[in-house]
Amino acid sequence: MKIAETFSDLSKHRLALSGEAALIPTMGALHEGHLALIRLAKSHAKHTIVSIFVNPTQFGPNEDFESYPRSRTKDLMQLEKVGVDIVFFPTTQEVYPNGIHEATRIYVPTIGHLYCGKSRPTFFEGVCSIVLRLFLITKPTHAVFGEKDFQQVTIIKKMITDLYLNIKIIQAPIVREDDGLAMSSRNQYLSEAERQLATEIYKALIKLQKTPQNSNIAAAIQKEVCELERNGIRVDYLSLVEEGSLRKITKPTPNSRVLFAGYIGKTRLIDNMPLTQTD
Ligand code: AMP
Repeated sequence: MKIAETFSDLSKHRLALSGEAALIPTMGALHEGHLALIRLAKSHAKHTIVSIFVNPTQFGPNEDFESYPRSRTKDLMQLEKVGVDIVFFPTTQEVYPNGIHEATRIYVPTIGHLYCGKSRPTFFEGVCSIVLRLFLITKPTHAVFGEKDFQQVTIIKKMITDLYLNIKIIQAPIVREDDGLAMSSRNQYLSEAERQLATEIYKALIKLQKTPQNSNIAAAIQKEVCELERNGIRVDYLSLVEEGSLRKITKPTPNSRVLFAGYIGKTRLIDNMPLTQTD
């Protein structure tokens, strides 16, 4: 496993790989959700490249950039075990040599400003700006993103199409804890009581998924919002959307999904679940 900290080292190691290579961008503090992405990548491409970079441009001024968990040694051990070809661990200076305020940004309109983009106005601009840089330097044939961040993978796909990038995007299903909570590096912030409360998110999504066909889904969603809030979860949004466009809809379709974001204390958690209707 090669470890690169600079773009020039990365390019050198990348050139030495022949054939298909899948990129898995991460912010580190790796957990089973990330490892599942890597395993999936290995089933699609001969080589795998994992990037670990806590990207400052996707954090708002009052967000958790400084406190975001960083665990380089443990991450490297896990990557060694799962087996990847290259780990890219750049510094902020390497990624943004002119400083983060002068860095060229990538902006995806409309879907970049819905849901998480509404509460975190520069978030997806930051995400796309780093992901495009990683694509350009690692030149992957494939890239794997988790459905945990459903809006993110949708926006990346749009960017790929708009910029004629020849990269196949693979969507990986959400990996959950035994009690249903979607794995996330941010789950480490939760106290024991908060961690317990967090399972209510999964329960709400499951209840919505099991809502009988032809019943009033808008009312069912509103009921779950009230229930979550009553339990102490501050709901940012709980919305039924059409996959692809992320347009808000009022009735399930064959390709619809319910998206959630909210706060437990100061911790922002997101999750989603398919909510489809076939007839
Ligand atoms: P992050 O390190 O949180 O930026 O995530 C890096 C990648 O891992 C993104 O594509 C995420 O969607 C994906 N990911 C994170 N958590 C999970 C999970 N529980 N299940 C599936 N994919 C995940």
